[in-house]
Amino acid sequence: MEYIGNFTQTEQILKRHGFTIRKKYGQNFLIDPGTLTKIVDTAEVGPSDIVLEIGPGLGTLTQYLASRAKKVIAVEIDSHLIPILAETLADYPNAEVVHADILKFDIDACFDRVREENEKIRRPEEDGEGSGQVFGDEAEEEVRYKVVANLPYYITTPVLMKLLEGKTHFDTMLFMVQKEVAERMCAAPGSKDYGALTLAAAYYTEIRIAGTVSPSCFIPRPGVDSALLLMHVWKERPVGVIDEKQMFALIRGSFNQRRKTLVNGIAGFEGLPFTKDEVKKALEEMELPANVRGEALTLAQFAALSDQLTHLSRQRPE
Ligand code: SAM
Repeated sequence: MEYIGNFTQTEQILKRHGFTIRKKYGQNFLIDPGTLTKIVDTAEVGPSDIVLEIGPGLGTLTQYLASRAKKVIAVEIDSHLIPILAETLADYPNAEVVHADILKFDIDACFDRVREENEKIRRPEEDGEGSGQVFGDEAEEEVRYKVVANLPYYITTPVLMKLLEGKTHFDTMLFMVQKEVAERMCAAPGSKDYGALTLAAAYYTEIRIAGTVSPSCFIPRPGVDSALLLMHVWKERPVGVIDEKQMFALIRGSFNQRRKTLVNGIAGFEGLPFTKDEVKKALEEMELPANVRGEALTLAQFAALSDQLTHLSRQRPE
């Protein structure tokens, strides 16, 4: 079957199935072949990749992904799209559609299963002679896991946090998001866009904006510009920290009320067990002023602050 990624074919499919576009699911379907090609090129999708696609919609991007990848798992919430996907992906046996809400879907269990299936294919005589051998072209192949999605914009942040904090190691993630969100995620310390999301992205990934996309590339046209956000997940975190959870609670506390100083934002936030004096002392050790705001601190400074506070709390009298 021919690719469906242009205006006329997309209109025909929508008409033929009597499909009503649902705003509540953030449905803006891509109709620009140039953008579709740019997405698969930028994510460097290749034959050893297993790709998670969030929200395949009509299957447009899925077709491009499945033509290049080893396997695509496409998770779609809208039941009305499932029969359409069966039709548009009929010629792509390596595309598996799952009808689920990505926020409730157990990504780690799914990818454990995929990894096991893949291992079985690579080691067909597991129980007999030759067990553990890798055969043919597969011998050279190391499977990579990627996420590629034209994200429904209403769930961008929870989806990103779920993927970043999850167990499955995806080595590349490429998302179409609102341009404004992409800028926030790549913001520099001290700027108005800099925040908890920026720091989470920097802790887990090397991140950059790989291009902007105009509203005319979608049906229906979104009210804002979009951007491609490319994230390569670090194999080793760029900063070390004793208590990762505590560092993120400190980050959230510091940005919870941006106009508060860091000391006032942190004290008592989400049950953090530090007094204002302890936070002031930790800042002093780091040669930072007591009235500093969270937006002035880099990721490495948040990690150092968290470690200082851990040390101080260990020195408390019993
Ligand atoms: N990938 C298609 C494309 O590029 O043309 C569609 C992208 S559209 C922006 C977002 C898609 O995500 C829609 O198909 C929508 O139904 C689906 N979606 C919305 N919320 C979802 C959720 N919670 N879980 C899974 N899919 C969701």
